[in-house]
Amino acid sequence: MGEGILKDGIAAGRLAENQYVSNFADLHPPFVEHEAFVEADRCYFCYDAPCQTACPTSIDIPLFIREILTDNPLGAAETIFEQNILGGMCARVCPTEQLCEEACVREAAEGKPVKIGMLQRYATDVAMQQDVQFFTRGAETGKHVAIVGAGPAGLACAHRLSMHGHTVTIFDARPKAGGLNEYGIAFYKTPGGFAQREVDYVTAIGGISIETGKTLGQDFTLPELTAKYDAVFLGIGLGGVNALRADGEDADGVDNAIDFIATLRQASDLSALPIGRRVVVIGGGMTAVDAAVQSKLLGAEEVTMVYRRGKEQMNASGFEQDRAAAKGVNIRLWLAPKRVITTGGKVTGIELSYMALDASGALKPTGETTLVQCDQVFKAIGQTLASDGDGVAIAGGKIEVDAEGRTSGAKVWAGGDCATGGDDLTVTAVAQGRDAAESINRFLIG
Ligand SMILES: Cc1cc2nc3c(=O)[nH]c(=O)nc-3n(C[C@H](O)[C@H](O)[C@H](O)COP(=O)(O)OP(=O)(O)OC[C@H]3O[C@@H](n4cnc5c(N)ncnc54)[C@H](O)[C@@H]3O)c2cc1C
Ligand code: SF4
Repeated sequence: MGEGILKDGIAAGRLAENQYVSNFADLHPPFVEHEAFVEADRCYFCYDAPCQTACPTSIDIPLFIREILTDNPLGAAETIFEQNILGGMCARVCPTEQLCEEACVREAAEGKPVKIGMLQRYATDVAMQQDVQFFTRGAETGKHVAIVGAGPAGLACAHRLSMHGHTVTIFDARPKAGGLNEYGIAFYKTPGGFAQREVDYVTAIGGISIETGKTLGQDFTLPELTAKYDAVFLGIGLGGVNALRADGEDADGVDNAIDFIATLRQASDLSALPIGRRVVVIGGGMTAVDAAVQSKLLGAEEVTMVYRRGKEQMNASGFEQDRAAAKGVNIRLWLAPKRVITTGGKVTGIELSYMALDASGALKPTGETTLVQCDQVFKAIGQTLASDGDGVAIAGGKIEVDAEGRTSGAKVWAGGDCATGGDDLTVTAVAQGRDAAESINRFLIG
């Protein structure tokens, strides 16, 4: 163990330089050609393939796997991109173990699905490395669509609109496009600046301009956009963060997990990034797991994830939970934050209440509490819509949309995390952005 790991409080440089490199290396190194052939050869090319049905973007999986097997990776990439223009990112971040690979007949038969995600990455990497573009911009229609949010939903929507010949301007509040692909997804899932390369690949079709540093609600309003453009798509994600509702949560050392992850993703030198010696992460979803795992990879000596219900109710998949445990994260269940303990204004611990379900099924503190010593607390208890809708109807905390992505506002569509009907995954955001673009196109040319 290096000395740095024992530095008290929140400190940078807990590890040796080479440990940062190995800790944050690609989670799944890509297939080489031979490995891709061997894996593709395991596919049964099923009729009515269940893997395809399980894919939110309905990629023709048996077809692209057959194309890989016949040494046609570019054909495979085209098959993937036809349905999902962010197929490169989805190959890296999709929870395939809950989607296509869970449905694969080889999973049911032998517990070893075809590695569809890895094959998708192989094919899309070949096409993107060679910068092969499969789609061209449609004949100019003279229609101009505004998109707010350059995340997966906004980018997928923009690409499809450009294929139909419409001009698109994307506005994004952040300095870089990509949404959570750039600022949220764990470092080791998408290293090497892939998110920006993908933005460039998607927008290379033409007809799409991106204006960063432009915020809806500050720099312009929705009525202004609808007055100026032929249609508007909102893909603004979930920018707000739920409060802990525990005493002392404003203390120095209590941070939003999502901000920590964004800082980590933008860091040019991971050794300069401070992290607590003992870290507690409150939450049970993907953000909590990513914050906990990356805290450990930055050299935190002890990382404890605290969730108020049981393992089965956690939003993080069994796969993600196992990954956290494998990295040394201690997951503690049926505990909720009660009070952040500080000394001299700095976090030194957290008091947690034991929780249980009462006879009516409501979650209640049992009255018993416990203390965990820590220097840093990350809040990861869910993201919220950071907008009042600016005139469009909200339902259940999200922008209400119909099956085509239409909101209650005339000429306004929405998709991705900010809209109802999704499940807060990159691939669903892509599907909703793409499908909203088809609906917008029908409206514009109707
Ligand atoms: C920490 C974390 C890890 C995740 N890991 C995974 C994973 O491994 N796999 C997976 O499938 N999914 C993962 N997700 C979920 C996934 O990232 C999202 O579902 C997906 O990014 C949603 O895409 P989106 O386009 O709807 O929104 P976002 O990606 O959030 O993009 C929204 C964009 O809108 C911009 N914006 C917001 N408000 C405004 C405004 N008022 N004006 C202008 N622009 C605005 C933002 O700057 C942002 O660029 C993760 C999420 C988080 C938080
Ligand atoms: S379910 Fe599995 S074996 Fe069947 S087509 Fe899909 S990947 Fe191939």
